[in-house]
Amino acid sequence: MSLPLIVITGASSGIGAATARLLSERGYPLLLLARRLDRLEALQLPNTLSRAVDVTDRAALVAAVAEAEQHFGPADAIVNNAGVMLLGEMQRQDPAEWDTMLDVNVKGLLNGVHAVLAGMVARRHGTIINVSSVAGRKTYASHVAYCGTKFAVHAVSENLRQEVSEHNVRVITIAPGAVETELLGHTTDVAIRQDYQDWKEQIGGVLRAEDVAEAIRFAYEQPQSVSIREIVLTATAQAA
Ligand code: NDP
Repeated sequence: MSLPLIVITGASSGIGAATARLLSERGYPLLLLARRLDRLEALQLPNTLSRAVDVTDRAALVAAVAEAEQHFGPADAIVNNAGVMLLGEMQRQDPAEWDTMLDVNVKGLLNGVHAVLAGMVARRHGTIINVSSVAGRKTYASHVAYCGTKFAVHAVSENLRQEVSEHNVRVITIAPGAVETELLGHTTDVAIRQDYQDWKEQIGGVLRAEDVAEAIRFAYEQPQSVSIREIVLTATAQAA
C-alpha cells in the first residue's frame, strides 16, 4: 500500500530538512515548502514536490497543498515547522522583528492548519504536527516576543486538539530545547547571539536536527488511534 502525502513547512534547513530526509527514507511522498527553493531542491528527495512558498502567504500555501494533493493524493500530515527566532530586549528591539515572528510563527502556522484541516476532518484521518519550543512552556531572557509566539503555538495546538479529536484528527506539539541549526543566526543583536552561542558551548552542545526529526517520526507513526499529544525534548545537559 502506498504511503500518504506529508507536508513540511520550513524544509530548507535545520529541523525541517532533517524531517524531510527521514520521512522520505521511510517512503512518504512529500510537499516541501520554504522561501529558498534551491535549498529544497538540493535535498534531491524522490516523490517530492518542492515549492517556494512564504507561509505568511495563505493563498500560496493553500495552492501548493492542492497541487501536491493532485499528484500524491490527500495530505495525511502537515509538519508546521517554519519559524524564526529574533531574540531581543523589548526596550531596544525593532518592532518589525516582533511582526515577523508573529506573522511566521503564529499566522504562518495557522495558515498551514487551514490548508489541510477541512480535508482531514472530511476524511476522518490526519495529523497536524506543530513545532513549538521549550520557549512555548517557559520564559527566558531576551525571548519576550519569541516566547509569546511559541506560547501561542502551544495554546493553538491544545485548543485545536479539543476541536478536532472527535473527527479522528490528531494534533501533536513538538517542543524542543536548543537545536544546532541556522535559527540563532537570524538574531540581529550580536551580544545576545554571542551569549547564546557561549551557553551552547558551555553545556557541551545541544540537540541535532535529526533528534527532533526522529521525535516527529515516532509521534506520527503511532496508530491513528494513539495521540502523542506533546513531546518536550532537550539535550540532557540543558538544565533551563
Ligand atoms: P532554521 O532557521 O534552520 O529553519 C527555519 C526554517 O523556516 C527554514 O527552512 C526557513 O526557510 C523557514 N522559514 C522561515 N521563515 C519562513 C517563511 N516566512 N515562510 C516559509 N518558510 C520560512 O531553524 P530550525 O530548524 O531550528 O527551526 C525550525 C523550527 O524549530 C522553528 O519553528 C523554531 O522556532 C523551532 N525550534 C528551534 C529550536 C532551535 O534551537 N533551533 C528550538 C526550539 C524550537 P526559508 O528561509 O528558506 O524560507
